[in-house]
Amino acid sequence: MRYISTRGQAPVLSFSEAMMTGLARDGGLYVPESVPVMTQADIAALAGLPYEEVAFRVMWPFLGDTFSKDEFRGLIAKAYAGFGHAARAPLVQLGPNHFLLELFHGPTLAFKDFAMQLIGQMMQAALAKSGERITIVGATSGDTGSAAMEAFRGLSNVDLFILYPHGRVSEVQRRQMTTPAEANVRAIAMDGDFDDCQARVKDMFNDLAFRDEVRLAGVNSINWARILSQVVYYFSSAVSLGAPQREVSFTVPTGNFGDIFAGYIARAMGLPIAQLVIATNQNDILDRALRSGEYRTDGVKPSISPSMDIQVSSNFERVLFDAYGRDGAAVSALMAELRGGGFNISQGALEMLRDTFASGRCSEAETQATIRSAFADTGEVLCPHSAVGVKVAEGHLGTVPMITLATAHPAKFPDAVEAAMGTRPGLPDRMADLFDRPERVTRMPNDLAALQAHIREGIAN
Ligand SMILES: *Cc1c(COP(=O)(O)O)cnc(C)c1O
Repeated sequence: MRYISTRGQAPVLSFSEAMMTGLARDGGLYVPESVPVMTQADIAALAGLPYEEVAFRVMWPFLGDTFSKDEFRGLIAKAYAGFGHAARAPLVQLGPNHFLLELFHGPTLAFKDFAMQLIGQMMQAALAKSGERITIVGATSGDTGSAAMEAFRGLSNVDLFILYPHGRVSEVQRRQMTTPAEANVRAIAMDGDFDDCQARVKDMFNDLAFRDEVRLAGVNSINWARILSQVVYYFSSAVSLGAPQREVSFTVPTGNFGDIFAGYIARAMGLPIAQLVIATNQNDILDRALRSGEYRTDGVKPSISPSMDIQVSSNFERVLFDAYGRDGAAVSALMAELRGGGFNISQGALEMLRDTFASGRCSEAETQATIRSAFADTGEVLCPHSAVGVKVAEGHLGTVPMITLATAHPAKFPDAVEAAMGTRPGLPDRMADLFDRPERVTRMPNDLAALQAHIREGIAN
């Protein structure tokens, strides 16, 4: 299996190289040269298997010769051993044809743990073989950073730096990033918003000399290995509702377009997905783009679902690549236009996108009302991101079972949940002491040179 860049100018890489590289050297994102297809019989055979075995069968065809089968099974087992639910990604029923996929039973209570725990294990195993050491720098709107800290702390071949927008993450998210005591993981509170953090990380990757000097690697949702890890729960949940004999639909609360792109890959692999619905909060660039054909940024409006407060949806580039017939030069031109504020999607590409995705937007008031009504009707306490998904899904229900992805545990966003429904969700017992642990964080300006100096100094110690 070979991986190519969406901008067509970077080296073709193997799975492990693409995992270590993150952002391609031409600024593009790696995608598989072709998507392996599972037959209906292969998919039917997943029924009743443990999550870990589904993960093995879904991901194995993408891996090439990076690991032996036994090694890969061992890494998957380690990755998910710390989850607080034996099913890993359990389904609960919200209504006659509406199901919630709870992706928040991992160590940091958000779906990011599915990918991050596994990529931590895979990177460590690959580096242990080659004896190399790498520096991972990531930007986060909150959940990626905490998941990365948890996945990489104490790993001997990795230095991790996480940039989060100062003052714009929830207290639980911040504490999950600032309380790990291991010296190889460090939190940076940067002045600016998430897009600024993401832009500085991209700048570091595009500074090829710095990139080589510190052996920079990325674990943001642009990393192909993360997307791949997320494909698994589309299969596990669909099969438990009767796929492949029966179609299912998915609604996905979306920010950087990583999680929903995993659903797009699941469908390309043969999973019978009827609707794939993009759910956005008031930062609705994706919903607007699908309706109007114009992909245009207009500044981030902070919301009560902060992990989706994003204007530049990085992984959207991957689907644009397919929508433009895998023409890297066309994608490069669009991304250059985006730096000036936006672009118009061509008619052909727009038709492809509209055939592939549905979309909807959920206002702040609707998010709150949905938290209240879901609790009143079903007893399920939703985090604000999951509530955005549930609200948008309600507009797309029909005869096909709808699975809405619940992306975080409500206790990760206690203020928003309490404001909506009057009671404060408690942390699971296993992290009840989070508020007592000492914090460790460096406040920094939105300044590339200062950040690079801080990283150089950090890895020298
Ligand atoms: C990251 C995140 C999202 C958005 O996921 P993308 O893959 O960036 O679209 C939604 N909800 C929560 C809780 C998240 O942490």
